[in-house]
Amino acid sequence: MTTPQLPALLDAFPALTPCLRTATLLGPAPGTPGPHESSVGGPPLWPADEPWPHCRQPHLVHVREALTDAEREEWQAVERRRGQRHRPGDPHVLTAGEAATQSRIMDGGSLDQVAWERVRLVPRTPAGDGLPMVPVLQLRAADAPALDWPPGTDLLQLLWCPQDHAEPEGQPRYWGPVVELRYRAAADVGETAPVPPVPGGAKDVYLPAPCRLDPAEVLDLPEQDELPAGLYERIEEWAEERDLEYDRVLGCLPGWKAGGWPSWHLTDFTALDCRCGARMRLLLTLGSGGAPGLNVGRYGELRVFRCPEDPHHPVRLNVQ
Ligand SMILES: [Zn+2]
Ligand SMILES: [Zn+2]
Repeated sequence: MTTPQLPALLDAFPALTPCLRTATLLGPAPGTPGPHESSVGGPPLWPADEPWPHCRQPHLVHVREALTDAEREEWQAVERRRGQRHRPGDPHVLTAGEAATQSRIMDGGSLDQVAWERVRLVPRTPAGDGLPMVPVLQLRAADAPALDWPPGTDLLQLLWCPQDHAEPEGQPRYWGPVVELRYRAAADVGETAPVPPVPGGAKDVYLPAPCRLDPAEVLDLPEQDELPAGLYERIEEWAEERDLEYDRVLGCLPGWKAGGWPSWHLTDFTALDCRCGARMRLLLTLGSGGAPGLNVGRYGELRVFRCPEDPHHPVRLNVQ
């Protein structure tokens, strides 16, 4: 499967050819996948004698605290003064002092003015052995042969902790589920482990509905900052003349994807480097909506980047 306009684009811009990457669009669709199939939210082929991954990192939980009577009176006094100053078209003017009072009372959170409670997100470390992770993606090499599979493996599994974590270990500027990856050889798995029950407090938006995959191989192209200098402007012109879009139609293809190029449509391009110094490469993209029904980063995409030198170096996560 190739975007129909791709051959014409490559004819017009031969400099793009070295940028091509083969990717697999995973095409999750509702189903009841078994442990030997590629799936989203299906049971992974997990050896009974291998410990199930648990998350021990702090989770962000909403904590509600009642305001003291003094705080409530202070808040209401600010609101009364603001009401008295009300001018048409300019109803929300607060003095700097009043704004400081309200932000002190909210203390980094928000205010529930019905219950008069301060609502804050605070990190809480799970007790004991932590919380069992949930299966999110299982990919067989036969369904994504273009990925760089570590020798002797033909199964990639991604599990995550269905909670929010603020900059968990090794993930600067990342907020979302903590992810665990495993590569294995399907033939080596004998007896399989049952999937543990979903832990209490899990966020529904991080619990994928079971899906089978309908993989399709495509050619993907990078976004402007990862193209040779000056090329993007000429491509845009070319695309405009043909009433086409480059971003997300010809390049940085959206949705659940193995390999390919990442889009940087929310932030500027950010180079992600492994601790070994190597520039990391996009491994997986997990999308929001559709059949799996996830919502990552305000209906965005969670991208997993891998070290090209050693697939077992810790991955980096990024949401756009
Ligand atoms: Zn967690
Ligand atoms: Zn590395």
